[in-house]
Amino acid sequence: MSHIQTETLRNFIGGKWEEIKSGAAVPVVNPATSETIVHVPLSTRKEVSDAVKAAKKAQRKWALVPAPQRAEILYKVGQRMKEEKERLSQLLTMENGKVIEEARGEVQEGIDMAFYMAGEGRRLFGQTTPSELKDKFAMSVRAPVGVVGIITPWNFPIAIATWKSFPAIVAGNAVVWKPATETPIMAFELARIFEDCGLPEGVLNVVFGSGSTVGEAMIEAEDIRVISFTGSNQVGRTIAGKCGERLKKVSLEMGGKNAVIVMDDADLDLAVEGILWSAYGTSGQRCTACSRVMVHEKVKNELEERLQKAIARLSIGNGLDESIKVGPIINRSGLEKIKGYVDVGKAEGAKLLTGGYIMENGSHKKGNYFAPTLFTDVTKDMRIAKEEIFGPVVSLIPVQSFEEAVDINNSVEYGLSSSIFTKDVNKVFTAQRDLDTGIVYVNAGTTGAEIHLPFGGTKGTGNGHRDSGVAALDVFTEWKAVYVDFSGKLQRAQIDVD
Ligand code: NAP
Ligand code: MG
Repeated sequence: MSHIQTETLRNFIGGKWEEIKSGAAVPVVNPATSETIVHVPLSTRKEVSDAVKAAKKAQRKWALVPAPQRAEILYKVGQRMKEEKERLSQLLTMENGKVIEEARGEVQEGIDMAFYMAGEGRRLFGQTTPSELKDKFAMSVRAPVGVVGIITPWNFPIAIATWKSFPAIVAGNAVVWKPATETPIMAFELARIFEDCGLPEGVLNVVFGSGSTVGEAMIEAEDIRVISFTGSNQVGRTIAGKCGERLKKVSLEMGGKNAVIVMDDADLDLAVEGILWSAYGTSGQRCTACSRVMVHEKVKNELEERLQKAIARLSIGNGLDESIKVGPIINRSGLEKIKGYVDVGKAEGAKLLTGGYIMENGSHKKGNYFAPTLFTDVTKDMRIAKEEIFGPVVSLIPVQSFEEAVDINNSVEYGLSSSIFTKDVNKVFTAQRDLDTGIVYVNAGTTGAEIHLPFGGTKGTGNGHRDSGVAALDVFTEWKAVYVDFSGKLQRAQIDVD
């Protein structure tokens, strides 16, 4: 394709676009059509080591550039992303499959993050505080960590990269980034934009390749001081263990089993829209996708009927077509995993109301399409009510009370997002207090994070860190406490206090 640099993408290391020696590469496939778009190289440990060296060298100088000047580059990047928004969105739909409207939303999220984090160039607030001693000054400042490693998934190939790389860069770090092999085009494009906007060489490095080679080499690289990872629980746990042994800071954002609670006083039209958008948008391949609905038994039949009607109206196909609402699943193994869960649900006794199959007729034959699926009479102990499916599959779980719904919400191993539809203000405030998730929505679905708030979850969803918002800065900075004694004599804290 003409707008892509070569048949095989190149790594971006030390400001240069480098081919890898072995030439090993795999195709990047459009999940809507099964066509190959471009190839992505499979780098080795050597390229990781080159990138870490380049980053280390660049970081020393970058850290000395005043933060407002570092931020100037982010303003330019945001502006460029704005100018190129449509082009980037089309490419994103081609590599990832999400429908064009959602792709535009994802690129917008990156633009928002650029301007927001650029603003941090004039904040990066620390604290000043009184000293317990006379003629002594105390303050805390944020210091860059050094070289940071970023490992990102395929489902938000540009937004998540901006959540991590923008705060890292404005705070004075250099970055080594390994994007998901499924979706390398957004990484290529973002690196190119940074290059065009004048980022000094080596501050951002992109190394393409598999998690097991490139990702592991990053985790083992001594000079990478922080790993920021978004992806599956299984991989996150492995990374946590390896970083733990090395005393390396690690921020993990992982899966979810997100639920919508529909109470008997809910606006059901609104609830249906909220569920539809958060369950079947991005074909359910969002970490915040709604995958369970705890519905009050009094409105269960009504909700089932309305949801089925609404699902029947969803158009499924190639997301480049503006009329399409649900795009493909990322790859064949994703499709099969989803189908496997449908079979498990049936075997466990859940009632399948609609969907449940891989779409293999007509135009759907070419891509990886799964029919939007709705189960009902699901109980909280069924696997489909507990495990992340990462596809367009919703389980309705009937409940008798608000308390039961909250208990079921909190019974899973994950804690990313939850939502409640109700008009009762007491339930609203009780829910926001008692739902054990990092994100809670009231009268909206489980998705729709805004970039200036912290993003992440409790329990198995993460390890206590957050992406985006000011919280992201905590991942990419070290707190440094600074004491200046201007008394001209030895003053001992806790001892010479009176
Ligand atoms: P994944 O398989 O865990 O992959 C995520 C990234 O990790 C990819 O770049 C992958 O590389 C890399 N990787 C794989 N094995 C590795 C290893 N041993 N060491 C280091 N890196 C390794 O996840 P995915 O299937 O791409 O993404 C879907 C998952 O992400 C879902 O579970 C979803 O819930 C989660 N997610 C969470 C959030 C959140 O913020 N909470 C947001 C989006 C997605 P390759 O694939 O290129 O080999
Ligand atoms: Mg693909």
